[in-house]
Amino acid sequence: MELKFIADAMLGKLAKWMRIIGCDIEYFPCITDDELIEKACRGNRLILTRDTLLIKRRKVRDNYFFINGNSYRDQLRQVVRELPVDPFAGILTRCLICNEGLTPVDKTSVRDKVPPYVFKTQDTFETCPSCGRIYWGATHKEQMLKQLKDILNGKD
Ligand SMILES: [Zn+2]
Repeated sequence: MELKFIADAMLGKLAKWMRIIGCDIEYFPCITDDELIEKACRGNRLILTRDTLLIKRRKVRDNYFFINGNSYRDQLRQVVRELPVDPFAGILTRCLICNEGLTPVDKTSVRDKVPPYVFKTQDTFETCPSCGRIYWGATHKEQMLKQLKDILNGKD
């Protein structure tokens, strides 16, 4: 089964990047430790955290992965190195806002919902079942892939 995650409030940028590469990761900028633990237990999610007090809590003990780095780049490198996460398998397959997996939609159905230029130049579109945002994009994907490679190769 694919690993699911929940990140603590300090790891917003890491969570964003993990969504970019397709990880199922919940993130809430304002959440109490109790809520975080509760959501992790209920959703079967591994807690990613930099909080040394949190990991001492009884309910967290066997269910956390401690993040070392200060920068999201270091953090992402650590995740890819030490967890079974393939950074290139699911890039841009998930809504960056809702964490939902994207579903392909027919090009004709998005005609009125995207800028004309985008409609003219793009052929594949996907939508988020939760918020309805439309995603497209060869160009965007390539840019993300380049940034991702730079991060993973340690170019800061
Ligand atoms: Zn969404």
